[in-house]
Amino acid sequence: MNAPACSVCAAHEPRAELVAWESPRWILRHHPHPAPLCGWFLLCARRHVASAADLDVEEEREFTRVLGACMRALRTSAQVPRVYVVMFGEGAPHLHAHLIPRDPACEGTRAWAVADWYRAVERGERAPGDAGAVDLILTRMRARLTEDLAGLTDQ
Ligand SMILES: [Zn+2]
Repeated sequence: MNAPACSVCAAHEPRAELVAWESPRWILRHHPHPAPLCGWFLLCARRHVASAADLDVEEEREFTRVLGACMRALRTSAQVPRVYVVMFGEGAPHLHAHLIPRDPACEGTRAWAVADWYRAVERGERAPGDAGAVDLILTRMRARLTEDLAGLTDQ
């Protein structure tokens, strides 16, 4: 079998340790190392679909429920009041929503500044999220989402 050409499809398989929750239609995984922030997650459609405008009826029905549950779980697990959601679909034309914890104590991640923060980590100019803290958030997210989205995992 050939390796998938899509980087999001490719990331679904070998990074199980970063997966917080998955169902037949969705995968929530932490950003791989170096992570721009602890708690920076990617909610991905399992199917190779370009954007939310291209979801099928069942995916579209589930999307807001899954997104809302993931945002609430991240707010609690990362102990932040707000979660940003960004979907470009440029780097890979496969629906992946960046879920970004917004800590008001960290001014450098406010609104559009978070994009500069992301690039600074990517260039090695700023330290990535600590691996131990990422593991802790992953543990919290798994516990919460296993409960909150139980009905979606066994279809
Ligand atoms: Zn894909």
